[in-house]
Amino acid sequence: ALENGYRDIPYHNRIHATDVLHAVWYLTTQPVPGLPNLPTQNGIHSDSVNSITPGITGFLVSKMSSVLEEGYGSLSGLIPALELMALYVAAAMHDYDHPGRTNAFLVATSAPQALLYNDRSVLENHHAAAAWNLFMSQPEFNFLVNLEHVEFKRFRFLVIEAILATDLKKHFDFLTEFNAKVGDDGVSGIDWTNENDRMLVCEMCIKLADVNGPLKCKDLHLQWTEGIVNEFYEQGDEEATLGLPISPFMDRSAPQLAKLQESFITHIVGPLCSSYDSAALMPGRWVDPTDGELDPDTGKEEQDTEEEDTADEEASTELHETKKMHRRKVFCQITQHILENHEMWKRVIAAEASEETKEAKPKCLGNPSDPITAIREEEEEQVSKEEEEEEE
Ligand SMILES: [Zn+2]
Repeated sequence: ALENGYRDIPYHNRIHATDVLHAVWYLTTQPVPGLPNLPTQNGIHSDSVNSITPGITGFLVSKMSSVLEEGYGSLSGLIPALELMALYVAAAMHDYDHPGRTNAFLVATSAPQALLYNDRSVLENHHAAAAWNLFMSQPEFNFLVNLEHVEFKRFRFLVIEAILATDLKKHFDFLTEFNAKVGDDGVSGIDWTNENDRMLVCEMCIKLADVNGPLKCKDLHLQWTEGIVNEFYEQGDEEATLGLPISPFMDRSAPQLAKLQESFITHIVGPLCSSYDSAALMPGRWVDPTDGELDPDTGKEEQDTEEEDTADEEASTELHETKKMHRRKVFCQITQHILENHEMWKRVIAAEASEETKEAKPKCLGNPSDPITAIREEEEEQVSKEEEEEEE
């Protein structure tokens, strides 16, 4: 029923919802180098004491811990099952009944939902409210029937908060709060026994999952870019029909994609990734210098972390192991992808600029079809990213 509530539109369809659900699953279950496992390191006792829901401190990690190698942890080992489930449900719900138009469009056209929600996070409020309305509409939809009332209330609260967190208008507020929490010293700033800290991590997680296009390999990234661009163009068409000015990057007759796409990574996805990574929450694997996978690493390793080592030595013996871990290099697939995709878009921009120069000189147009086609394709992709930014 939830799936059927997603419309058949180019980007914000049920496949996007599934993709975001998959992404939060990936981020919360895949091995994260150096992440502690709460039950053994910090203890969950304080959580049980402080939590308003002491009965639900169960963790999924017990089923997965056997899979995790030493030196790795996962968010599913630090976040109680109820909160994790709320995150997954939020991902599935988060764009429910998306109309394929941006918040700005709904506000500009005084759409009923904009009036209903006072122009504030109009889409996100609608996704959450409509999905919960569906949930309540039939008794057989209630898969939470076994939760205590207090648990249900908290579950519902967490789902709504996570969905509302996907409004990119609040993007920088979240980044600021999270960066202040994490600080310069990695994961140490996050108190896993604190509900609010865990909720902030979950919000960052779903935010990252929601804009994960640039974190995919190039081909998939381009596919999603095409989807968002097409959805953007449909809005641009409607704006033109309504006599409204066409929003930036939504005019299919004047694609302006490269700079926008690069900008989306530079200003939105990149900082989000960087912040998430600085908290040492990014799945990946330790790189063994002897593997020779990254040659420069072997020589640099000790130097890079010299300062860190010094600080670590003041710590307890127990932390000594962790200190050694931090000295090692980490390889992260999705970080690698965003770097590659960012470089790709920069090259497109450079090629565009070069092409404009050529077009200014008629003599250079001798064989224009091939390079122009290639550039156009990439431009479209870039446009779609910008659209993604606004649409999300
Ligand atoms: Zn979304």
